[in-house]
Amino acid sequence: MIIYDTLFKPRRLPGWWLRFTKANPIVPNIISIAGLAWICLSIANIISASQIHGHGQVVETLGAVSNSKPLIDKAIDLRTAYHDLVPVEVRRLFSNLYGNIALYLLIPFLLLLEFLFPCNPSQPLIGKSFLQDAFWFAIDTPLSFLFVLPVVEFLHGLFEQYLGFLTLGTATVWPAYVQLIAALLLAEFIFWFNHFARHKIRTLWLFHSVHHSQKEMNVFTDNRVHIVDRFIISLLMFIPFFIFHVSTLYAVAVIGIYKPIHDRFIHANLKINLGWLGWLISSPQFHRVHHSVESAHQDKNFGAHFSIYDYLFGTAVRSRDIYPQTGIADPRFPTEDKVCISKLPKNLLEQIVYPFKHIFGHLLSARRTKILGARIRFRMGRQLSKHRNIRLFKKSRYSETLK
Ligand SMILES: [Zn+2]
Ligand SMILES: [Zn+2]
Repeated sequence: MIIYDTLFKPRRLPGWWLRFTKANPIVPNIISIAGLAWICLSIANIISASQIHGHGQVVETLGAVSNSKPLIDKAIDLRTAYHDLVPVEVRRLFSNLYGNIALYLLIPFLLLLEFLFPCNPSQPLIGKSFLQDAFWFAIDTPLSFLFVLPVVEFLHGLFEQYLGFLTLGTATVWPAYVQLIAALLLAEFIFWFNHFARHKIRTLWLFHSVHHSQKEMNVFTDNRVHIVDRFIISLLMFIPFFIFHVSTLYAVAVIGIYKPIHDRFIHANLKINLGWLGWLISSPQFHRVHHSVESAHQDKNFGAHFSIYDYLFGTAVRSRDIYPQTGIADPRFPTEDKVCISKLPKNLLEQIVYPFKHIFGHLLSARRTKILGARIRFRMGRQLSKHRNIRLFKKSRYSETLK
């Protein structure tokens, strides 16, 4: 019962704990940084293991337990397609990743942080918003996986054919971590402009607003991303990794593993600003301000993994202790707080349809205005020509009388 109440019900933190965390903000910062560092080390272990070991016994195991030849043939076909699509080192990375404990402890670790240092304590650890975003996770993860790898392959081919001159030859002799840091800094720089455009261009904002619509930020909110928005985010993200010759393995490890972990962290319901490190990388406080519903915070804090570009370009909210309400101002958005839990899958579909509805509505009203305008012009034209005819008629009669 205590576990149920802790997970699913709003809670009240004891006063002494609130006073302690307020007086010692370094405590949540240290615990979260230690957790992230541990995750990074786990990734490093996964990468080194991926360069040595090999796996791939799934089909053999299936053959040992099943007598169905069509099923085994199908599994072999799927494995062949997977091998054709994904390079060997990346396949090893995936199989090692799913055997790594860090992957399974990430969500419990973030929930523990939310339990200890919540930004909004009245928000349950597992509430309706969490479940809605978990549904988003269930569709976003396979779609991203299916979609991102072919896009990377396509972009790599395109880059080698037409943009090879952008490749930095000297980067080939740089240590791997220098290549990686340079690529990350450039990728974030490109992301900043991309994110800025998704806020300023109305059609792009309609798709991006789905991500901003969450009123109760949680560990799955980073998956609350419309597939069109996901496509636009991914479009240029890989180019810096080609420029600085980052190996596919490191690029996939950072884009496919580290970035999602950091994204989960900054979307969690956490009262954490990372102290002085927050001036360099983005924290839950920094990103919460980006999701703020208040007009004073609109179009601020665009950086997803670094905060430096916002400080450089003047788009950062300098106050580091504000934790505003989040969401979007449009009351027509199908937020999950209006429906019961059993309706969440249907609500997800409505959230996916929301931008298209707006775009078609806008097109229709523009068409209606055009037709109405044409009708008005036609009527006015008729009126004008009528008046003109009367004037001409009067004029001709007048001129006739003069003759
Ligand atoms: Zn945004
Ligand atoms: Zn976000």
